[in-house]
Amino acid sequence: MTIWIEALRRAELVAAGAVLARRGLICGREGNLSCRFDDGAVLVTPRGADKGRLVATDLVRCRLAEPAPAGASSEAAAHLAVYRACPGVNALVHAHPRRVLALAALGRLPDPGALEEGTALVPRIERVPAVAPGSLELAAACARAIERAPAAVLARHGVLCAGDDVWRALERVEVLESLAAVALAAVDRTVTI
Ligand SMILES: [Zn+2]
Repeated sequence: MTIWIEALRRAELVAAGAVLARRGLICGREGNLSCRFDDGAVLVTPRGADKGRLVATDLVRCRLAEPAPAGASSEAAAHLAVYRACPGVNALVHAHPRRVLALAALGRLPDPGALEEGTALVPRIERVPAVAPGSLELAAACARAIERAPAAVLARHGVLCAGDDVWRALERVEVLESLAAVALAAVDRTVTI
């Protein structure tokens, strides 16, 4: 990894975090983002930070073969587990999109077939059962889900989306939220989307 590539990836994660916050896909200190490099390094957002206001030096560098350092996101273990299990995944975005969670509370996942973007970007969506945030159990469940699908809904928690880069992973989060908005509007005609 060159210093220029790392600087670019840091800037992308900062920008993507700001997009998540601006679009209401996270609030407060929710969510986390990461990307992987060819040499086994991983950059992940820091524990407890507002992901909408990061700067490039906030991002924590991890190694794929090692446990996450203390300053890394509480879900860094899940990110590393997914990268170890899924060689084709280079970026991950975890967010708490409210409409997806509302739909999940009704016992439903977003239907990819409701929108062209759904069919194209999230043709399969996995469901991860409710387990403790930050746990190794959640990390293993996330790895199994992303082995099978580019997007997963974490029960009573949020979503995890994968991509070749952070923008594709973010786009998948946005498409999940759009699919959920359409589904909720179809359920309740008083909902404005
Ligand atoms: Zn979360």
